Amino acid sequence: MTIRSMSIWILMAASLNAQESAMTGYSRERARSQQQLEEQFRAIPSPEEVKKQHRYFTAEPHPAGSERNHELALYIADTWKQQGMDDVRIHRYDVLTSLPRSITVEMVSPAAYRASLREEPYDVDPDTKNPAIRGGWLSMSASGEVTAPLVYAHSGNPADYDVLRRNGISVKGKIVLVRYSNPYSYRGFKALTAQREGAAGLLIYSGPAEDGYKRGKVFPDGPWGPESHIQRGAITYDFLVPGDPLTPGWASVDGARRIPMADAVSVPKIMAVAMSWGDARHLIEKMDGPLAPQSWQGGLPIPYHLGGNSVRVHLKVDMDTSPKPNYVVEARIRGGQLPDEWILLGNHRDAWEFGAVDPSSGTASMMELTRALGQMKAQGFRPRRTLILASWDGEEVGLTGSTEWGEEFADELKTKLVAYLNVDWSVSGPNFHPSAIGSLAPLLVELSRGITAPSGKSLYQEWRKSAAAARIEAKDSRPVADDNLVETRIGSGSDFTVFLNYLCRPTAELEFDGPYGVYHSAYDDFFWMSHFGDPGYRYHTLMSQLWGTLALRLSEAEILPFDFAAYARDIARFASALEKGKVDFGSLEQRIAEFLAAGSELNAAIARALAEGRLDARVAEHVNRNIMQVESNWANPDGLPGRPWFKHTLYAARYTYGHLELPGLTEAIEKRDFAQAQRQAEILARALQRNAALLHETRAMLP
Ligand SMILES: [Zn+2]
Repeated sequence: MTIRSMSIWILMAASLNAQESAMTGYSRERARSQQQLEEQFRAIPSPEEVKKQHRYFTAEPHPAGSERNHELALYIADTWKQQGMDDVRIHRYDVLTSLPRSITVEMVSPAAYRASLREEPYDVDPDTKNPAIRGGWLSMSASGEVTAPLVYAHSGNPADYDVLRRNGISVKGKIVLVRYSNPYSYRGFKALTAQREGAAGLLIYSGPAEDGYKRGKVFPDGPWGPESHIQRGAITYDFLVPGDPLTPGWASVDGARRIPMADAVSVPKIMAVAMSWGDARHLIEKMDGPLAPQSWQGGLPIPYHLGGNSVRVHLKVDMDTSPKPNYVVEARIRGGQLPDEWILLGNHRDAWEFGAVDPSSGTASMMELTRALGQMKAQGFRPRRTLILASWDGEEVGLTGSTEWGEEFADELKTKLVAYLNVDWSVSGPNFHPSAIGSLAPLLVELSRGITAPSGKSLYQEWRKSAAAARIEAKDSRPVADDNLVETRIGSGSDFTVFLNYLCRPTAELEFDGPYGVYHSAYDDFFWMSHFGDPGYRYHTLMSQLWGTLALRLSEAEILPFDFAAYARDIARFASALEKGKVDFGSLEQRIAEFLAAGSELNAAIARALAEGRLDARVAEHVNRNIMQVESNWANPDGLPGRPWFKHTLYAARYTYGHLELPGLTEAIEKRDFAQAQRQAEILARALQRNAALLHETRAMLP
């Protein structure tokens, strides 16, 4: 079957969806009581309460491994106990940590300039004067010292070095200056690229065209980054394997085997430092050599040259890499009927400085969500399935806390985890921007129709409006439609990674976005949030309501509300985007069509059984076990070629953190390794076949 003739199936499946009950996975009777339960839940969260939490979490810088971040872990554990959560625990993982002892960046010729690597304080915002704020640094940088010529390499991507080569410039043994790019490419990818090119050091600065005055008003008068703002971050090669670099693929628990740091593939071998454009300008002004290409000219009103001669820089980095504890806080509300089916809600706690957006907005929303659940529990509510809450640590360093926890409890999670619902930051503005695997995407659309946004309109209406505006800006010609509202192309860069890519469990991520130019800077603070991001804390509150509603919809469902026909349509889109070359896609397309047909039939059978009230509890339990098995069936135990930790055959991330669908197949085609591509296509076809058979078997259980 060709992709083209599959449109008939898409139409058929769409008409079947229209017949379904208003609440997918619920009989009419149960839908009514569920509606009441969700409304009762959504009435509790309040902007005043969530603001109080937010002020508490943003009072001090709290990076991973710091004493303050440990105090916040204890605070969360205590609060969850007071709120009435069950089984509150703190897990400790001693992991490789990388904190700066001292960092020097100075131009030694043709003029002397020592980079301040500091962010300027402002009187209107006393938090910016906090002496605990660190300077410019990048976690996992190598330590060392070098004095060498400086070369400008634009965004620091491989193609940029080709341009330098064409201009006769090698970066071997030199220091490379690059800027954070828009669209985003992960700074660890810039580091790996510079390391492969043989550079001795890497300086990354924030240009005003990307997140500064070229975009709009800057802090403290607006949401964009001012002259001295610095984007800190890690350069860990966690696209190869995330988590503690010394325990790749197993948990950093007490007594676990650790590999030597020199053998750890995710530890960079290059020195790297983050800086502001205020510092970088002094270097750029003095650089000579050929004028950089037009597309490399930045937002500063000075010509950018490629350099390589006149400017020499002394770079000295001294990092403390002693192991430090990461603390994961966990709590549960044990399920009354299906305690071994888990809905996991998680957010990371560690921040580069105050982290008002990233991640404390999410932490505040989570604490308000647990307060609401606790209040309902005190009134006698107990979910059918178990809800688990998690406050991760070390996300910013290498997705460390969630990865270690996921690896420690891998066996249980593989069979019990219904879905992982991630919120990294909850709010940097009003635009809803969720992502999810294809089978969970329709549920997010369905939920959004019943939830009221701060404007008084439904979240669904607001979402369509902001999505349409974003597409015009991104020159994306797709009209906004229900089946493309949710982003189903998932990269990496947050805590869902271990659950999706390693454990092959369903994931979704929720987020509200807006103009945000102070990412990973000290200006990402309470002042920024309460003036620009969410002054009334209404979107923080909306996130508590939405996140909790999604969890309750999953925890109470009679039949888990996954849509495998939607999943199949997504996989068909992924496959049709591939450049086929010499690979025979015939059987793969056939398998996708079979999976789509099986998914559509199952949707219809479930909807009928629920509508007619003919669903026996024992049958429902079996159906749900099979539904949970579907995601596991995407696993390839060998993992991706060269990246064995990444097991999922539909999703992975590129080294840039960019999304990567059908990763084994896509990477093989991009390398023009057609034998490997054929093998990967067959692995995918087999997974699709397993799942089509599983859905048929499930359909046969229903009346
Ligand atoms: Zn974050």
